[in-house]
Amino acid sequence: MKLKIWSLAALAFTVAIVLFTAASLAAKAQLPTRPSIPAESAITGLPTIATAPLVVSTPTPTPVPTPTPLPPRKATYNKCHVAGSEIAMTFDDGPHPKLTPMLLDIMKARGIKGTFFLVGKNVAEYPEIAQRIVAEGHEVANHSWAHPQLTRLAPDALKKEIADTNDAIHRATGIQTTLMRPPYGAINASITKRLNEEFGLTVALWSVDSLDWKIRNAAHVTKLITEKTVPGAIILAHDIHPSTVQAMTAVFDTLSAKGYKFVTMSELIALDLPAPIQTAPANTPAGIPTPPPVGIPAATPAGPPIATPAPSLAPRATPATTTP
Ligand SMILES: [Zn+2]
Repeated sequence: MKLKIWSLAALAFTVAIVLFTAASLAAKAQLPTRPSIPAESAITGLPTIATAPLVVSTPTPTPVPTPTPLPPRKATYNKCHVAGSEIAMTFDDGPHPKLTPMLLDIMKARGIKGTFFLVGKNVAEYPEIAQRIVAEGHEVANHSWAHPQLTRLAPDALKKEIADTNDAIHRATGIQTTLMRPPYGAINASITKRLNEEFGLTVALWSVDSLDWKIRNAAHVTKLITEKTVPGAIILAHDIHPSTVQAMTAVFDTLSAKGYKFVTMSELIALDLPAPIQTAPANTPAGIPTPPPVGIPAATPAGPPIATPAPSLAPRATPATTTP
């Protein structure tokens, strides 16, 4: 009897083990199978990319155009040699409180740019007009502080005339000017050298004198300018005379109709070519000196430049009493 009880117990134990094992297997079979994914993909959630050699594509750099350096400036300009039809209209002795704004209106309406050689004390008095000149795309430059003949000044007085005017223009407009027109065109080699080397100023003379300071007649000023202007011309006028401002409408319209393009004086200088070679006529006798080769500007002297001012200056050696 005892043996039978033990046999039953052992059987029950065996059945229990078998049932437990079967239940465990069944439970395991129902677990979802997790795919084995690489750790990196599990983190990023991105599909695994087949390992391939990494090709770094270097972008082709956009070629940057090398800016053409401007040719060095000459010490003095009274005209330029240009391939096109550019000219520089220049106005001296302002800013004038009424006439300069009138002139600026005329220029603005036509999209015409010019250069204003300013008298320092006038800039100090009317800085807002100097600002307007610059704001409307024109060039401003130095015409001394009080309009003396530079050739009659002591070295210190000359320095003050130039430096004070540069400062006044800079204070009013933020512009550091690079051009200087001597009052009355009165200049010599040593002053030119000083302006160039000490102040970094190029001497700006002219090739067409409107004589507007002498003959206060708009029709005369118009006729003179429109007849004498050629490509590369630097035209002198004064924005302190009503007759000059009155003339400018016709001057601008006539020259524009002829195909001339108004640029600032620095723009004209940047377009300046070496002096054109004079082509000798076929019947030129032998022995005539050959012109300088291209690339060597004939008008650039090696030493201190311009000993003689522009031909048109001669009658102006005596300052006009009415010019400020
Ligand atoms: Zn002047």
